[in-house]
Amino acid sequence: MSAEHNEMTTGGAEKQGEPQHVAPDVRAVVREQGDRVAAPVESPARTVKLQGLHAYYGEQHAVKGVDLTYAANEVTAMIGPSGCGKSTVVRCINRMHEEIPGARAEGRVMLDDEDVYGAEVDVVSVRRVIGMVFQKPNPFPTMSIFDNVAAGLRLSGRRVPNLKDRVEQSLRGAGLWEEVKDRLGRPGVGLSGGQQQRLCIARTIAVEPEVILMDEPASALDPISTLKIEELVLELKKRYTIVIVTHNMQQAARVADKTAFMLAGELVEFADTDTLFTNPSDSRTEDYVTGKFG
Ligand code: ADP
Ligand code: MG
Repeated sequence: MSAEHNEMTTGGAEKQGEPQHVAPDVRAVVREQGDRVAAPVESPARTVKLQGLHAYYGEQHAVKGVDLTYAANEVTAMIGPSGCGKSTVVRCINRMHEEIPGARAEGRVMLDDEDVYGAEVDVVSVRRVIGMVFQKPNPFPTMSIFDNVAAGLRLSGRRVPNLKDRVEQSLRGAGLWEEVKDRLGRPGVGLSGGQQQRLCIARTIAVEPEVILMDEPASALDPISTLKIEELVLELKKRYTIVIVTHNMQQAARVADKTAFMLAGELVEFADTDTLFTNPSDSRTEDYVTGKFG
């Protein structure tokens, strides 16, 4: 809030040719914030730590004390049989879980050293910093390709001096620009499923998140579109911390640095992806990855 005030003060002072009225350190902060909005879409990835995370739907205890660290600039896959709690865990990370009537979470989700569940934390900004991509591509149905990407920015209420550039950067970042640059005004829902999913990824990265949660982002897509999403994930991890839920073990093996295996609400094993698939330490992991159940 005070930054906004400073920004206004600086702008006014500079117009009158009197920047000396503003302390240099304040101007540095303001300039940095101005650059941050105008600069190419680029954000520092952050470490996410789950500490004793429990999640409930009413009486049902869906996530039972998960401790897990998602490293910055890495892809972490969440695997496990249907209903084991993968989606619930990721929805707890950006506080979407609590939107479900009767649902609640306990424990901590640390974003570097900040508790996402802290009393002072603004839920809206949590969801900007921790973006989410869903299984079914969900572009805004009445909006153009351009507006779908711009929508996140407009909703975030931040001043974006160069919206067009920002939309282009986001579409480039999502590997979609070349395919849509000549039809930005056409409806987002007119794209193929794979393109729609990349559009949703563009919408997510437009607001400069630091963490991206993906809940089975390719499971509604054909194999070619799936590979494109996987290539994109590998590209995105250079800038973001990525958590990807997948029921496809080959996909986890292809994209993930680390893999977490869940069963009945518990984290059974978390390891380097290679280790988890080839030399798991828990027999339940071994049974799952070798296809004995699932
Ligand atoms: P996964 O993503 O691994 O398939 P989920 O996190 O969706 O598992 O589900 C974990 C458990 O929570 C399941 O038993 C599921 O039935 C329950 N659950 C999920 N979503 C809801 C909901 N909206 N209301 C009630 N129970 C739910
Ligand atoms: Mg799920």
